Amino acid sequence: MFPDKGPPPEVQERTAAECRPYRNSGGRVRSPLLTVFGGPRVAQAVSLLCRRLPSLLILGSGKEWDVEDNVPITEPLCLPPSQVLRPPPSVLPFEPLVLPGYPGYCTEYSDLERRLDMQRLGRNNGRYCGETIEIGSVLQRLEAVGSHHKWTIEHLELPGMERLLALSRTPSTVTKRVYVSAGIHGDEPAGPLAVCQLLEEDNWPSSVGIWICPCLNPSGFRLNSRENAQKADLNRDYWHLESDEVARHVAWLEKQPTFDVTLCLHEDWEAQGFYLYELNPDETPSLAEPIINAVAEVCPIDRSSTIEGWPADNGVLRPPFRPEERPGWPEAFYLVLNKCRQSYTLETPSDYPLKTRVQAQVVALRQVLESLAR
Ligand SMILES: [Zn+2]
Repeated sequence: MFPDKGPPPEVQERTAAECRPYRNSGGRVRSPLLTVFGGPRVAQAVSLLCRRLPSLLILGSGKEWDVEDNVPITEPLCLPPSQVLRPPPSVLPFEPLVLPGYPGYCTEYSDLERRLDMQRLGRNNGRYCGETIEIGSVLQRLEAVGSHHKWTIEHLELPGMERLLALSRTPSTVTKRVYVSAGIHGDEPAGPLAVCQLLEEDNWPSSVGIWICPCLNPSGFRLNSRENAQKADLNRDYWHLESDEVARHVAWLEKQPTFDVTLCLHEDWEAQGFYLYELNPDETPSLAEPIINAVAEVCPIDRSSTIEGWPADNGVLRPPFRPEERPGWPEAFYLVLNKCRQSYTLETPSDYPLKTRVQAQVVALRQVLESLAR
């Protein structure tokens, strides 16, 4: 259940002192990225839990331990051992640990894993630099699981070899309709994976019909780029419909019924936490707060007062809906004008572990389905 070794978590309040390198008994020089209290036994236990940490400096019992090489640290470079042993609490990513057999320390394995999931990785640098997905196999998986669970599957053919996938599930008991889109930006992998996870779980309320476009920009995913292969930002093309993908997508949408709620799954490489845009011009009861509360259990929320230049309230952005002032319409504008009067654009923070972001999208979707099924 623990992720393979990947990028290290970023200690947000890292100080120069904490980053001082040290040398271990194998002669390798490292910088501590995470500091916890405990001796070698604790170090080994924690290392099994946190495989993604390349360097874990374990303090306590007068011993420092390098987890990756599994050897003692012999020589903190530049810094006297007394200082290394006593980092101020503010530089620790979490409280000192309590591990079984070490009374006086403080936490359990599950809590440790959760805390690591809730930490920034510190990888994104001017763009998304995190994990990528092989979109062809994700789409194959989506189609296989969709057909196994008897979803209606449509292929929206595009010029060339490309096509878009659309799935729908409309039992006769339906009283509400939800539309979900993902993968319109090729450097935002959490959305397509979240859709995949929900299809595999196959736990849908019988009263809600669902239409899903799990990846609107397959060529962008192959390039790990926001834009498609022709360098168009598809999420600015819903007025003029110039790209093949958006023109085809809109032609398909026109044939679908209207929806009660639409969800567009996105990620933001700069975000401090999860946030969402709500377009709800008729001011029907908002789902924004229930979504934020549900997501907060699994992913940090960006509670800044301004996000992307818009006023924000606890992770909720409600920019004025003036499509005439913005020729580069996002998908949500088209949806609100044509298909649905309540639209959410969900943004997961892509500098956090992918697992955390997928879970945030899954939890948000489940919350919406639950609200509508009541
Ligand atoms: Zn996006």
